[in-house]
Amino acid sequence: MFGTKTHLTAHDDHLFIDDVDSVDLAKEFGTPLYVTSEARVRQNIRAYHSAFPDADKYFAVKANGNLTVLCILAQEGTGADVFSTGELNLAGLAGIPKDKVLFNGNSKSEQDHRTALEAGVRISVDSREELESLSSVASELGTWAEVMFRINPDVSVKTHPKIATGLKTSKFGIPAEQVADTYQTAMDMPSIEPVGLHCHIGSQILDISPFAEAVARMMDVAQEVLSSGGEVKRIDIGGGLGIQYAPDTPAPKPADLAQGILPIFRDRCQDMGIRPKLILEPGRSIVADTTIMLTSVNVVKRAHVNFAAVDAGFNVLARPMLYDSYHHVVAANKAEQPAKEKYTVVGPICETGDILAKDRLLPKLERGDIMAFFDTGAYGFSMASQYNGQPRPAEVLVSGDKAELTRRAEDHSALLQGQSIPARLML
Ligand SMILES: *Cc1c(COP(=O)(O)O)cnc(C)c1O
Repeated sequence: MFGTKTHLTAHDDHLFIDDVDSVDLAKEFGTPLYVTSEARVRQNIRAYHSAFPDADKYFAVKANGNLTVLCILAQEGTGADVFSTGELNLAGLAGIPKDKVLFNGNSKSEQDHRTALEAGVRISVDSREELESLSSVASELGTWAEVMFRINPDVSVKTHPKIATGLKTSKFGIPAEQVADTYQTAMDMPSIEPVGLHCHIGSQILDISPFAEAVARMMDVAQEVLSSGGEVKRIDIGGGLGIQYAPDTPAPKPADLAQGILPIFRDRCQDMGIRPKLILEPGRSIVADTTIMLTSVNVVKRAHVNFAAVDAGFNVLARPMLYDSYHHVVAANKAEQPAKEKYTVVGPICETGDILAKDRLLPKLERGDIMAFFDTGAYGFSMASQYNGQPRPAEVLVSGDKAELTRRAEDHSALLQGQSIPARLML
C-alpha cells in the first residue's frame, strides 16, 4: 500500500504502524505525536551492515536524539557522529562505545574540546586554527587527541542549498589542498595524533555520483598525506544518502551506495598499500522512514483553497518550512477512503509560512480527523521548538503490537523553565 514502507499498512480504514492502530495511539497519547517503528530502525541499520560489512557506521545524532532510538542503534553495533557536547552526552547515555564516536563541528569551544578529550572520543578538526587550540587544551589536560581532518572536497550535489555541505563556498572543512600540510603540522604536535580524513558532502542526496567523486577526492588527499610521511588509518565519508519522500522521487539504497564507492575505495587503498577503516555517518537514511507524526484536524476552512488546520506546525515539523520539503500525508482514520478533495494542511503557528503540505488530494476531512505525516524520523522532533508558546510533543516506540512512551509531551510549565523575573519588576 505504501511502497517499500512495509511497517505501514491500512486496514479497517485505519493506518497501522507495525501492528498498532495509529488512531488508537492518537487517542491514548494525544497529538501531536511522533511514533517510531523499532523493527524499521533495525531493518534500516542492518541494510547498512550488509552493504558495508567492514565499515563502521556512526549514526548522525542530530537527525534523531531520542535516547531509545540511540539505544536500539547501539544494540545494533552503531557508533555516533556528534556535533556538540549535548549530543556526545546522549551517545554516552545510550551506551555507544567511545571508540565509535566522532566529535564533529566547525565551531567548537574550549569546553567542547575538554569534554571530548575527557570522554576519550576522536575529534574531527575543521580548521588549522582549531588544531592549535585543541593542541593547547590537550597539553593542558596532560593528554593527547586522536584527530581526523574534515576536508572540504569541493563537490557539488543536487539537494536543497541549505544542506549542501561540501561546496567550496561552504563553511565546513579545510580546503582539500591545505589538508596534507595541516596533517604535517599536526604530526609535529606532541599532544595530537592525526589518524585520518573526514568529509560530509550534504544531505538528502539522491544520486550516487557525488559520493564517488568525494571518495576519489579523499583518496587523492590520502595519497598526499602518505607522500609527506603521514599515516591514514581512517577514512570517514560522512552521511547524506537521501530517502524517498515523494512517490515519484525514488532513492538509492545503502547497497547502491556500496556499489558506487567501494570499488574506488578498495582499488585506491590497494594502490597505496594502506588498509584504513572506512566509516559512514548516515542519519536520515536510518531513521527518516521509521517514524510518522500524528496530528489532529482542528478546523477545516473553505476559503480560496481548502485549509485543514492541524495541531502541529513548523514548531513540530520544521522541514517543509525550512527546506520546502515534501512529506507524504494521509488521513489515519480514513486510510482506505478515496481521495476526494484538495487540501492545504497548515499548522497553528502565527505565520503564513506555517504550511506542512500543499494541495494534497485527501478524503473529505473534518474536525477530529487524524493526519499522519510520513518519514518524520529524521530532523523531525530533533528540530522541534517551543515557538509560539507550544510545548514539544511526545514520542512513542512501537514494537510489534506494543506501544511505549519514550518521551512524554512537555506541559505548559516547560515554557517557564529557567525563566526568572528581576525582583524590581515584580508587582
Ligand atoms: C548531518 C550530518 C550527517 C548526517 O547526514 P544525513 O543526511 O542525515 O545522513 C553526517 N555527518 C555529518 C558531519 C553531518 O553534519
